[in-house]
Amino acid sequence: MYNITSKIAEEFISDAEIRDTLAYAKENCNNRQLIDEILKKARDCKGLTHREAALLLECDDKETIEQIYEIAREIKHRFYGNRIVMFAPLYLSNYCVNGCVYCPYHAKNKTIRRKKLTQEEIRQEVIALQDMGHKRLALEAGEHPLHNPLDYIIESINTIYSIKHKNGAIRRVNVNIAATTVENYRRLRDAGIGTYILFQETYNKENYEALHPTGPKSNYAYHTEAMDRAMQGGIDDVGIGVLFGLETYRYDFTGLLMHAEHLEATYGVGPHTISVPRLCMADDINTDDFKNAVPDDIFYRIVAIIRIAVPYTGMIISTRESEKSRARLLELGISQISGGSRTSVGGYVHPEEESENSAQFEIADNRTLDEVVGWLLDLDHIPSFCTACYRAGRTGDRFMSLLKSGQIANCCLPNALITLKEYMNDYASPEVRVKCEAMIKKLLTTVPNEKTRATAEKFIEAIDKGERDFRF
Ligand code: SAM
Repeated sequence: MYNITSKIAEEFISDAEIRDTLAYAKENCNNRQLIDEILKKARDCKGLTHREAALLLECDDKETIEQIYEIAREIKHRFYGNRIVMFAPLYLSNYCVNGCVYCPYHAKNKTIRRKKLTQEEIRQEVIALQDMGHKRLALEAGEHPLHNPLDYIIESINTIYSIKHKNGAIRRVNVNIAATTVENYRRLRDAGIGTYILFQETYNKENYEALHPTGPKSNYAYHTEAMDRAMQGGIDDVGIGVLFGLETYRYDFTGLLMHAEHLEATYGVGPHTISVPRLCMADDINTDDFKNAVPDDIFYRIVAIIRIAVPYTGMIISTRESEKSRARLLELGISQISGGSRTSVGGYVHPEEESENSAQFEIADNRTLDEVVGWLLDLDHIPSFCTACYRAGRTGDRFMSLLKSGQIANCCLPNALITLKEYMNDYASPEVRVKCEAMIKKLLTTVPNEKTRATAEKFIEAIDKGERDFRF
């Protein structure tokens, strides 16, 4: 039944294969020789199969866990350096016809204030985001054929890319909207989106159907096969994820890696990113009703093992996570975080919306983008506002080959420094400016290729003279 390259959801995410994997992991989690072989494979950056990863997740001994963390740190450093890509979500509309029992947008929720941004309101939100320093957005919307049809999403993307306010520009728009048709994915690609993101929520079909009792999202196969359609529609950067807390973490962790394996085996390119959201309190939702909450220590292990299982896949956490857990997760493999986020529709211009029942969920990190940037620099990470790869056509397997070739130090590092310089000159507070300056000075000298280094220095001088938007 299990068929990694099948286009049928229940064959590439086979329930029997997941259950066999979990039994295998339990049986072998004390097999020292096997664990050592898997750790060696991970250390050699060869990635892990879902079975190997599930086995590591089952290991409870301190020494193995420490080794996993150490390898995750090494891989993170090797492929991503200390760059952290910054983004913000932009909520367009919370109208939704679905019945997802964990999401406050569910159609029966009578207390949430429904709102959909007009193109003028989107303009205002984007100007507020540009004034913070953001260059990369993740568009979010409920599913509603009348209020939020694809035409509306495409019109909004065009609006967002067209806004040039002072030195601001949104250079990459990622899109997190409901599963759709191949034709609609083609239209999204033609509109110039970055990554198409869709969370599976849970891979357990039976539980999925219980959690999504009504609406188009209740169709497990249609939802699970969405990334296949996106790829057929020409989108080669896709982002997957599960909402941890809905199902046992072991099941969804295994399903997530099987999904990544399926995309890699079928299309020659795995997911561009993996998101690891955890369920949060929200209007009309009580997290106590869900019995699968993932404790911090297990969550850290999950992130570290995903890091070593798919070394070439970016990993994202949002402001659902607190400052404390973000600090830990950044070390263990996260390469992209949001900052200064609002989860309400219109919340960047009207922050009061956050507390007036239009937010999607309660966020745990309420700091401004400038505070997050300063904090990252204090922790020796480089906040990066880079959007170069996708604009230079380095998507899908072309992006993966850049990562695999180890050319990051000559490409992504200078891009990160140049975009941080833009942030420093245009948006940073005086205190954060000083930190940006010190980081740029320190790391510019570490760009290995002499010619690239000299060009990066020139770009930085030009930014001081008022020019913008350089890239390698
Ligand atoms: N409507 C789109 C869909 O159906 O996939 C996606 C947009 S929704 C704004 C983005 C994600 O928020 C969902 O996929 C879900 O995983 C997450 N989400 C929903 N309720 C949540 C909650 N209470 N806490 C944390 N995340 C939640």
